[in-house]
Amino acid sequence: MMQYFEWYLPDNGLHWKRLAKQAPALKKAGINMVWLPPAYKGAAGKSSVGYDVYDMYDLGEFDQKETVATKYGTKEDYLQAIKMLQKNKVAVICDVVLNHRMGADGTEDVMVEEELSTDRNQDIGDQQQIRAWTKFTFPGRAGKYSDFQWNASHFSGTDWDDAGQRGGIFRFAGKTWNRETDTENGNYDYLMGADLDTDQPEVIKETHDWGRWYQDTVHMDGLRLDAVKHIGFDFYRDWIRDMREYAKKDLFIVGEYWSKELGKLTHYLDVTERNLSLFDVPLHFKFLEAATSDGNFDMRTIYDNTLTAADPEHAVTFVDNHDTQPGQALYSFIPAWFKPHAYAMILLRAVGTPCVFYGDYYGIPHDRIDPVGGLTTLLKIRECYAYGEEHLYFDDGSLVGFTREGDAEHADSGIAVLLTDSVGGSKRMYVGTSLAGQRMVDAMGKRSETVDIGEDGWGEFVVDNGSVSVWVIENAQEYLYTTVE
Ligand code: CA
Repeated sequence: MMQYFEWYLPDNGLHWKRLAKQAPALKKAGINMVWLPPAYKGAAGKSSVGYDVYDMYDLGEFDQKETVATKYGTKEDYLQAIKMLQKNKVAVICDVVLNHRMGADGTEDVMVEEELSTDRNQDIGDQQQIRAWTKFTFPGRAGKYSDFQWNASHFSGTDWDDAGQRGGIFRFAGKTWNRETDTENGNYDYLMGADLDTDQPEVIKETHDWGRWYQDTVHMDGLRLDAVKHIGFDFYRDWIRDMREYAKKDLFIVGEYWSKELGKLTHYLDVTERNLSLFDVPLHFKFLEAATSDGNFDMRTIYDNTLTAADPEHAVTFVDNHDTQPGQALYSFIPAWFKPHAYAMILLRAVGTPCVFYGDYYGIPHDRIDPVGGLTTLLKIRECYAYGEEHLYFDDGSLVGFTREGDAEHADSGIAVLLTDSVGGSKRMYVGTSLAGQRMVDAMGKRSETVDIGEDGWGEFVVDNGSVSVWVIENAQEYLYTTVE
């Protein structure tokens, strides 16, 4: 899978057009799923990345927020890009943001309890009246597709009193936060904007209606669900069931539960009856720790307490994303020297569903960040050669590796991956007796010698200091000459 956007794409409305053009190249590069950014009109109009949701029925079609097109283009461009991806057999994963709304059309005076920011179960003072931006009437759309309008009764709280011109965490009187959300700050139902009351019957009906409309409109193959820890855990369990039944296909669904605590992720999977996958956030933080420990990280533990180890069937592995890149809310960008290590560990293992970040694949011009070296090679090796039984050699504090034996369906398949966060060296690893007598070379181009596999299926592989080498059969050359188009 590829996350096909980063935070600082230009606001030129050309992203969907570019994606449509890129569809064949992406398929050729070994991408079989693409996660698209939120496509609906955000409060910031033409410069909105898409997470400040204003109108989910406006996919770049109506003159709202001073623009018809979104940052990414028009609705027509969007549907064309999806069509081109699917035509090239690349599945389309759409980003769904149901936690909050922003950029309301009008205010309402509502009674609220102010909550302590660090403990949202604790009221400060007495009930008070605030002027909240909660009326969404969408005059620019004038009722097309849906005449649903939002008001304060559909939300459980907000963070701005327009009368007093002051911020705070305001829970609407008579409302409770969702029963079960993340427990950070007491109850982390509230994230930003006007927070949807996902227990309110009209809200439940509207979110289901919209989901059906969206499926009918774009015919997506899967969904990426934003901010799931800020929404009552039972909400998505039911919503997903409804979406799959309605779509009559097994939508691939991944949720963003941003926590490095494995227990929170597995608990969420339990509550939602494992009907979705989650991003392996703990693994991302393991990569960060390994990359920033001056070679003193214990590489034996890199998969410990990760979702990849605990529940690989429901783990979407990734290295970075639009929130972790420099300048963003969850900044925790993996340093460049360790990126090939991390990508080798998500792309070539037999477990997890890997997701490649656009900013790593194409670079991030805004911050003068180059594309990750060797990433196109790793993708091609994954597609062509990373098959068969896996053997792990996470048995040393710094020098670790794994192998895949290859299988009969994929010519020249079978690989050996050796990497280190510290000094280089060699390691004997088993690649299987079907590779006996083969000669292997380093596809990353770091080492120029060859490794001969013995009759017993073992070979002695080598890696440079702070580097990663991926050994493939000498004849196997599908990875050569791969470039980003
Ligand atoms: Ca919420």
